[in-house]
Amino acid sequence: MTADPDGKVTASDRLVTRRDVIVALGGAAAASTVGVDGVTAREAPLHVRIYPGPVPLRAWARYRFEGMSRNWPPPFGDAMTVVEEAFEQVLSHARERSRLTDVDLRVERGRRVRFPLSAAEPSLESVVPSRRTVLDVFRDQVRQRDVGSETTCHLLLCWAPFNFRLGYGGTHPSIDRVGRVDGEGAYTAVNVGATAFWDSRAVTRNMAIHETLHTFISPDVAEAVGGTPCDHNLGTAVRTDDALRISPMATAYAGPNRFDAGTRWEGRGCADHDEFHRHDGHEGVDRYAYTTRLSEATCEAVTRYLERQRPLP
Ligand SMILES: [Zn+2]
Repeated sequence: MTADPDGKVTASDRLVTRRDVIVALGGAAAASTVGVDGVTAREAPLHVRIYPGPVPLRAWARYRFEGMSRNWPPPFGDAMTVVEEAFEQVLSHARERSRLTDVDLRVERGRRVRFPLSAAEPSLESVVPSRRTVLDVFRDQVRQRDVGSETTCHLLLCWAPFNFRLGYGGTHPSIDRVGRVDGEGAYTAVNVGATAFWDSRAVTRNMAIHETLHTFISPDVAEAVGGTPCDHNLGTAVRTDDALRISPMATAYAGPNRFDAGTRWEGRGCADHDEFHRHDGHEGVDRYAYTTRLSEATCEAVTRYLERQRPLP
C-alpha cells in the first residue's frame, strides 16, 4: 500500500530552498527560478531535478507523517539539501581556480513519480523491479512531461527497502551521464528506503550525492584525475581516532566486501582500495563514519566534466 497525497501539483508544492530565499532577498541576481517541473524559467548548465517516488504508509508512520501532504519525508529533504551542497563544493573548488565562474547551479524538486509498475500480471518485475525497469519507468514519466534538457540530471528518490535488484540505487544503464544522449538528460536513482532501513541517514545523504555525481563523471575524466576509469576510486576513506570516515563517492565501496562491513550492503560496481584517492585501510576498524565533504579528486572530476559540457562561445 502506498500513500498518495500528492496526486496533483499545486502552488503549495513549490519547494522553498535556500536559493529561493537568496533570490527573495535580492542577493543572487543570476540565480534561476526554482520550482516543480514545468515552472522552470530557463535551462541551466548545472541542473538537477529531484523527484519523490511513492512512500509506503509504514514509512510515513516512522517519520510521524512529517511532510506527507507534500510527499516529501525528512530523508528526501535531506537528500536534496546535500546534493545542492555537494555542487556548491564543486563550484567553490572550481572558482578558487578561476574555472566555471559563470555557471549557475539549479537544484529543484520535480513532480512525484508513480510506482509501482502497472503490470497486468504479477511478476518479479512488478513485485521487485530491476534497476533498469525502475529507471526506464522513471525516464518514461519524465519524458512525458517534456521538461529538462540534455544538461539536466533527473534524480529519483525511491522507497523500496527490500528491492535487492535496485540495491541502494544506480544510474540508468544507457542514459547515465548528462550530455551523453542528444536532447536527453541523465537518469539516476537512490533507494532512500533501503539506505534508511539498512543503514543510516548519513549513508542516505552520501548515496544521494554519490548517485547524482555519477551522472557528472565519465570514465575518461575519472582516469585523467584519479588514474583509473572508476568513479568510486575518486573517493576517500580516512582513519580518524575512532572510525574510518568515508566520502560520498567511496560510500558503499570502502569496507571489506562482505555483509555489514562498512555499509550493510556493499556496492557491486568497480572499486579498488589501492587506487582510491585515499584509503587508509579497514583492518581493525569497527566503526564507519560518513562525511558529505567531497574529495578533491571528486571535485576536480566533476569540474572537468562540466567544463566539457559548456556550450562553445
Ligand atoms: Zn556508484
